[in-house]
Formats: sequence, C-alpha cells, structure tokens
Amino acid sequence: MTFAEYNNATLQAPDPGQIARRLERWFARHQRPLPWRNGYDPYHVWVSEVMLQQTRMEVVLPYFERFVARFPTLQALAGATEQEVLAAWSGLGYYRRAKMLRAGAIEVVARFGGTVPSTVDELLTIPGIGRYTAGAIASVAWNRHAPIVDGNVARIVSRLFAIEHSLGTPALMNAAWQRATELVDACKTPRAFNQGLMEVGALVCKPRNPSCLLCPVANDCVARATGRAGELPRPKVKAETRELSIALYLITDRKGRVLMRRESGPLMNAMYHLPHGDTSLLTGSPLAAARGELLGTFRHTVTTRRIEFSVYAGAVKQHPRGEYAWIDPEALHDVPHPSYVRKALRWLP
Ligand code: SF4
Repeated sequence: MTFAEYNNATLQAPDPGQIARRLERWFARHQRPLPWRNGYDPYHVWVSEVMLQQTRMEVVLPYFERFVARFPTLQALAGATEQEVLAAWSGLGYYRRAKMLRAGAIEVVARFGGTVPSTVDELLTIPGIGRYTAGAIASVAWNRHAPIVDGNVARIVSRLFAIEHSLGTPALMNAAWQRATELVDACKTPRAFNQGLMEVGALVCKPRNPSCLLCPVANDCVARATGRAGELPRPKVKAETRELSIALYLITDRKGRVLMRRESGPLMNAMYHLPHGDTSLLTGSPLAAARGELLGTFRHTVTTRRIEFSVYAGAVKQHPRGEYAWIDPEALHDVPHPSYVRKALRWLP
C-alpha cells in the first residue's frame, strides 16, 4: 500500500462544521480593512462585488471610493443618467457592468422601495445579479446562510473534499456549489465564513504551490492528506484536434465576381462560404462544378479542427440557384464570411 493509499483508507470525511469554524476564526484575525466592510451597507457590498467581477482588488479600491462618493446611495445611482454612471466607471472597463448596476438600482427602487433584498430568490429577479452575486449580497451584506462559488472557492473546496472533476466542467461547479452549501449551512456567521473561504482560496490555496503550511484548514484537507494538493482540481481536458482536408473552388463570372454559398447550421452561422468538396465540416448539396487546376494550398485552424485547404479553379456546369450568390470581392466586407475565405481569394485571377 502506498502512502497515499494508506491515507485514503484511514482518512475521515472532512467535517463541514469544523472547517466553517476554522475559516470564521481565520477571517476574524486576518481580514483586510476594505471600505465596504465598514458597516456592510448592502449597496456598497453590491457595488464592490460588481467591480470585483473582472478586476483586481488593488485596481477596484480607488474606483469604489470615487463611485460611492459620487453616488452615495442606491437612490442616487438610480436617479443618475447612464452617461453619468459610465463617466464614474470610466477606466474600469467592462462597461456593461455599470449599465447593469444602474438598471438593477432602478429596479430595486421600483420594486423593493430602495432596499436591496436579502434573499437569494429575490436578488435573482434583479437585472445583472446572477447566482454568485446574489449569494455574495445575501451572505456578506445580510449575513444570510447563502453559498457563493467563484473560481477560488471552486479550487479550495475541490481540494478540501478531493473532488475529482476537471476545471471548467459543469460537474466541478455543481459539486463545488453543493459543498459550499453544506459548509455555509454549518457555519455560525455566513458573512465571516464566506469571506474567509474566498480569501483563503485566493491568498493561501493558490492555483500553483498552495501554501498548505499557512492554511487554517490544512488538517481537514483531503488533498493535502493524500499528497494531491498540487494535482487537484484536475486540469481542463483538452479537446482532441481533428485534421481535415477540404477542396475549395474559386469560380468567377465575367464581371470578376466570386461564387459563394450562404450556409447555415450549428457551425455556419448563416455565413457565405466558397463552394467546397468532400468534407465532414461543411454541409449542403454540392455544386455541379468542374474542377480545374490546383491553384495552391493553405492551412487554417478553427477551434479544434486543423484544415488543409486545396484551392482549385472551377467552372459551373449549370447556373447555380438557391443559396448561391455572385459576390464582388471588393464588397466582401458587406457579407458575413469566415476568415478562410480571404486567404483563398489571394488566388483570384
Ligand atoms: S491544505 Fe493546502 S490544498 Fe488544502 S485547502 Fe489548505 S492550502 Fe489548499
């Protein structure tokens, strides 16, 4: 029996109550003084969560201070124009966040009398608030037993409970939400517990080289006990690359226009393609065309498909109908087309 197998056999399942107590104690001792922690105004917590969605903490702090100075209450934000809100957000990027925050504030004033709701169900009815933000506002602002899972939480719980699913899979996120729910249900102070879980996930249980020696839940962690802290969560499974060969036909009329076909379907997006030969990637009825000389070849990659295109001159045997159209190469920008088309047009006469 290996060391890891021995540990697996003798290991006890982690106790959610014990983990929760340790993380709450850790947070009480190590929490950083952040402006929205000063009184936990639900409006401030909401603004901070939206700002932190795609932006680092150090960048967010000055923007947060300026934003809540400019719009000190939710009513002030709801009463501002979109332009005023975007101006205050200027420089933070991802401006859709600011628009949704304002839309959410207007909704809260209209439907909840200006008080940010305290339950996940109500929060989820507000535009721009998803499962994570609803859990964050309910637990951090209102101290409700609501779970939250972001990337850091998914990583730490997958190590604590040795969740075997790969990163980026719905199975991992479902298991993480389930474990996060068990943990928050077992805690005394959801506000402290959830923030402790997120901060230990971000600062201690880092993606590479987790600092297990400094970790407050090291004694509860199955990944550490089995020597697998560096292995979990399992990396993303890379999709297999497929090699394809496709024959393209460059067919022109007397005016120099190119024959193209509008194709639809899950891979096509109603775009205009060049007539093509046998392939499993492209579908549709083949064109009655005669293959001429080989003009050249080129390689092109589409997500997991590596395609070798062979470009042939061609001539139509009968007048094409239906989805076919003659397109002026100078006006190609007016029709939706995939990027390989331009590569093939370099062989136009
Ligand atoms: S012991 Fe290590 S792997 Fe386990 S939760 Fe703590 S930092 Fe992460």
